[in-house]
Amino acid sequence: MRAVVIGTGFGGLGIAVRLLCKGYDVVMLEKRDRPGGRAYVYEQDGFVFDAGPTIITAPFLIEELFAHAGRRVEDYVQLFPIDPFYEIRFDDGDVFSYSGDPARMRDEVARFSPDDVAGYETFLERSREIFEKGFVELGHVPFLDPWSMVRIIPALIRLECYRSVLGLVTRHLRSEKLRQVFSFHPLLVGGDPRHAPAIYALICFLERRWGVHFARGGMGAVVAGLARLIEELGGEIRLATPATRIHVSDGRVRGVRTAAGEDLEADLVVSNGDLSWTYQHLIAREHRPHNSDRKLQRMRYSMSLFLIYFGTRRLYPDLAHHTILLGSRYEGLLEDVFRRGRLAPDMSLYLHAPTRSDPSLAPPGHEAFYALSPVPNLAAPIDWAQEKERYRDAIYDRLESTCVPGLRDHLVTERLFTPLDFRDELWSHLGAAFSFEPILTQSAYFRGHNRCPDVQGLYFVGAGTHPGAGLPGVLSSARVTDSLIPSIDASVSRQRPDGRASAPAGEAAPPRRSDAARSSLDPLAGTPLAMRARKHVGGRSG
Ligand SMILES: Cc1cc2nc3c(=O)[nH]c(=O)nc-3n(C[C@H](O)[C@H](O)[C@H](O)COP(=O)(O)OP(=O)(O)OC[C@H]3O[C@@H](n4cnc5c(N)ncnc54)[C@H](O)[C@@H]3O)c2cc1C
Repeated sequence: MRAVVIGTGFGGLGIAVRLLCKGYDVVMLEKRDRPGGRAYVYEQDGFVFDAGPTIITAPFLIEELFAHAGRRVEDYVQLFPIDPFYEIRFDDGDVFSYSGDPARMRDEVARFSPDDVAGYETFLERSREIFEKGFVELGHVPFLDPWSMVRIIPALIRLECYRSVLGLVTRHLRSEKLRQVFSFHPLLVGGDPRHAPAIYALICFLERRWGVHFARGGMGAVVAGLARLIEELGGEIRLATPATRIHVSDGRVRGVRTAAGEDLEADLVVSNGDLSWTYQHLIAREHRPHNSDRKLQRMRYSMSLFLIYFGTRRLYPDLAHHTILLGSRYEGLLEDVFRRGRLAPDMSLYLHAPTRSDPSLAPPGHEAFYALSPVPNLAAPIDWAQEKERYRDAIYDRLESTCVPGLRDHLVTERLFTPLDFRDELWSHLGAAFSFEPILTQSAYFRGHNRCPDVQGLYFVGAGTHPGAGLPGVLSSARVTDSLIPSIDASVSRQRPDGRASAPAGEAAPPRRSDAARSSLDPLAGTPLAMRARKHVGGRSG
């Protein structure tokens, strides 16, 4: 049976591995000339720039994919921990060193606000409880009917998920600076800390539990490892091949048309493209009564990002791998980005300096960077063609006056990526960097469903589906979607002259782990994920 996967983001790569293990013939179609989606790589003037994700918070989800296919992740890519996780620099020069070490974290909190140590401990304990519910239990189950949502309401109330992340943090911490340190995490998945429900406070514990990791050779090495695995398993990845139509008839998916006009027949299609874009541009209206253009356009979309990838011909040894530069305003800035649609001169930045951990990503004596600024998505009336040079200069001013002195004197290469590029390069509705905004009314059952409610055999993975954006989210979405797709019996499929297996695609069958997974070197492979995660959680830290 043939499955076509549209898009090679982490969600697409994850589902491709899983479908191959299930016995499907898999063809992946990717619009761009490299796989990885937001985890694209620019190689420019001797520098290697990871375009998107840089913080790996649940490395076991990557290991698990290789184990699923009976492989060892270390034969494909080396993941290693980063310490500290982040340096958070405030406008007045204060620096909070954010790590996974319980004693160091307590000391840092005490250095900023001795009265907040107890509140910090209770907040972390709450983050652990939310993690157990939101990540361990609910992050891997599909939410396809309203009852699935109703059933979790008591737990959400008990865990105070009616509050925002910032609301929860504010309840536990008095220091304004610490409130920022422990509430910024929703921004990593496109959320506004003032509106993202407290369920996203699980990220704090997720980081504590497994640490923050990076890959030798950059994030592109993880993508390359997964692409290699897919090809070894017999999958095909067609680059520079946009899908322009998903064929549907009699309520069933039939195949995919490419921009070159080729029609690929398929028994099953999984779209990893932007969910809103896929519905609006690839599926004819009459086939999707549950997802009309009007409904999709009324949803709230995440912020976008403005990115500068740049390289310098000098080193900055005092910098951390990950630096967060907070501006003078916190809530005011969030209001500008998420609600007012204004480009603020006092932006907050995330600065990625991967050569601090892996010098191979730049020529000797050079440093590779990217600076990321959360900005309004394209619903805001900002003329990016006009603004981009000015905004770039404002970011450079900020970096030069804080932690990258003399940047422009030593600049040797540069590339910009604006919300227009999110729309035009990645086909992302409104240029949103993280699909739908993570708010309560767009989470779980209310997020894009992993299985199309209208078309049999059509599935989704990626940031727009449950559980959401970020690497842990999209890798988990592949797991959820996999659980909805029937296994095929390869022997039956081989016996049939037309090569089709008897199991009708589009109907749920119990997920089956491959034998390969059971023989993995991972001692916990083959046990349900929830059990594995609980084992990790068992040794509480704090
Ligand atoms: C700058 C940036 C930094 C980030 N940092 C982190 C981080 O540090 N840690 C973290 O966990 N998360 C991070 N994230 C979020 C994370 O990267 C994303 O949520 C995740 O990678 C999205 O994966 P996805 O599976 O949804 O697919 P995407 O990465 O969105 O890929 C989708 C792919 O589908 C292709 N496509 C779309 N439509 C079509 C079509 N019709 N035909 C063919 N191909 C198509 C696109 O070209 C793209 O390659 C970051 C995101 C960005 C943008």
